[in-house]
Amino acid sequence: MPIIVQKFGGTSVATSEKIVEAARKAVRAQQQGHQVVMVVSAMGKNTDMLVDLAGQITDRPAAREMDMLLSTGEQVSVALMAMAIHELGSEAVSLTGGQIGIKTDSSHTRARIQSISTERMQKHLDAGKIVIAAGFQGIDDDLNITTLGRGGSDTTAVALAAVLGAEACEIYTDVDGVFTTDPRVVAQARKMGRVSHDEMLEMASLGAGVMHSRSIEFGKKFSVPIHVRNSGSFSDEPGTVIGPLPENADRAVSGAALTKDEARITVTGVPDRPGAMHQLIAAIAEESIAIDMVVQDVGTDGRADIAFTVLEGELPATLKAAKEFAEAFPGAEVSHEANLSKVSVVGLGMATQTGVADRMFRALADAEINIKAITTSQIKISALVERTQGLDALRAVHSEFQLDKAPEPSSANGNTVEPSEKADAVDIVSRLRRMEDLTIEDVQLDATQGRVTITRVPDAPGIAARVFEAIAAESLLVDMIVQGTGRDGLANISFTVPSESVQKAVEVASATAKQHGCGPVGSEKEIAILSVFGIGVRTHVGVGVRMFKALDDAGINVEMINTSEVRVNVVVNAAKGEAGLKALEAAFADVIC
Ligand code: ADP
Ligand code: ASP
Ligand code: MG
Repeated sequence: MPIIVQKFGGTSVATSEKIVEAARKAVRAQQQGHQVVMVVSAMGKNTDMLVDLAGQITDRPAAREMDMLLSTGEQVSVALMAMAIHELGSEAVSLTGGQIGIKTDSSHTRARIQSISTERMQKHLDAGKIVIAAGFQGIDDDLNITTLGRGGSDTTAVALAAVLGAEACEIYTDVDGVFTTDPRVVAQARKMGRVSHDEMLEMASLGAGVMHSRSIEFGKKFSVPIHVRNSGSFSDEPGTVIGPLPENADRAVSGAALTKDEARITVTGVPDRPGAMHQLIAAIAEESIAIDMVVQDVGTDGRADIAFTVLEGELPATLKAAKEFAEAFPGAEVSHEANLSKVSVVGLGMATQTGVADRMFRALADAEINIKAITTSQIKISALVERTQGLDALRAVHSEFQLDKAPEPSSANGNTVEPSEKADAVDIVSRLRRMEDLTIEDVQLDATQGRVTITRVPDAPGIAARVFEAIAAESLLVDMIVQGTGRDGLANISFTVPSESVQKAVEVASATAKQHGCGPVGSEKEIAILSVFGIGVRTHVGVGVRMFKALDDAGINVEMINTSEVRVNVVVNAAKGEAGLKALEAAFADVIC
């Protein structure tokens, strides 16, 4: 009998009436011929309330005790859900993460799943019971209760669907599906029929809180069809399918997102040599803090400035680590800026289309929004802006890319997983030691690109837009873009284009630079881009550290960096490309699947 996993989020079990409603859905699925596993979250804002209670007792609760506390929310829901199902005349059993056998590591409050035993669940299912699993929790080797991180019930649900070989994982929530952006923030947001794993991964990490991003990593790794839908709808209204294909591959941009609470740390005066960057990144990764929007500017005096963003909540810990790092380098200084937001556009289509960046920058410039930093990856462009302008920025880009309009129907059908992909997934997983281990697919060298750098760009709205409009007018395909706020408010904009386009790009950039009072335009006809890609490369904060260490040990300096959920790219000197590739292959040999 096919298995279906149905997950109900906090608002979908917020009251006894809603619990009964959810129970009806599960019973109906069972009557339609499924074995049913439900995963439930804590009722309403119960987890927030528990966090608040802990805060009334102490500012520094022990992480183990925090997990003990937070896991109780889900325990209340599963018991009530089982009672609701009994009341409807069906059989059900509630189970905690530990009772199911969800084994995790011991990193309390952000534990990773290592394995799940299916025996107990399967026995109950075969006996005709609906299994009700507590979301967001597990147990470590010493039988301590752990939790997976806020929003982690999605991850429990997709992980259970993966190990049980479920036909589908339905995520019931308080909106109709995944929208082009948060529908509570932008009224014009449109429900997407489907969205690809890679797009959803980016959107989730960039602020689309509708899904826990680690759940999408499981969905991709184990080919679990995920269907996000509204628990409040009585009809069988379809939601959004998260699968291998995008809604429409011809569209450059599929969605937009806003991360409201960003802060930026800048470390100036770092010696520009291998090792320095590695030490800084290692010091921050040590605190398990994921950094983003890394911008490195090389000065003329052999010293570099490094800036990056973190979530504002992580600012104190990040500053502490950065200051300890800076103490080792006389002349190095740490500064920071809070109250920032990051607006991003995401789309698989932008990897192969020109003229996406310039449209985004133009939309922001027209809304009189100054861009404080820019980073890109193959499928996303992020701009850092003042927090007071964050919402306007999101609305401006959503409207620029007409995300409210449904795309033309695309002939490809993304709702099913190809059998060959399923086989691949099984193959990869069989080589993993633990379910949530980092999975590196490959390490690659791209030696086809060159780099252009416009120096001393004034910190004023509209300049990035004009530069990339001029570049797009020549149909030059820009790959990476990096812009920071340099010293005295003068930043560098660096971007990569195919080597054969470097000269043209320099001409175009020079003309624009001159008009706007920028400094000279530099270029390197050939650079080497080294990439490590796979699943979980951002959430496993150690990937960047491993890369930098390997390159550092090989005496190779990193000149530019960009990261996404599935890829870390670094630019190194063209002559060091092959050596860099070998160093990275050796460094990741144990995790390449
Ligand atoms: P649950 O409790 O069901 O897990 P969440 O609150 O975690 O629900 O996620 C649902 C919320 O995610 C929605 O209410 C919506 O405001 C927010 N959200 C943010 N971005 C998006 C998006 N792109 N599409 C849909 N919802 C989004
Ligand atoms: N109850 C947990 C939280 O609020 C887990 C979840 O809802 O996914 O974060
Ligand atoms: Mg959620």
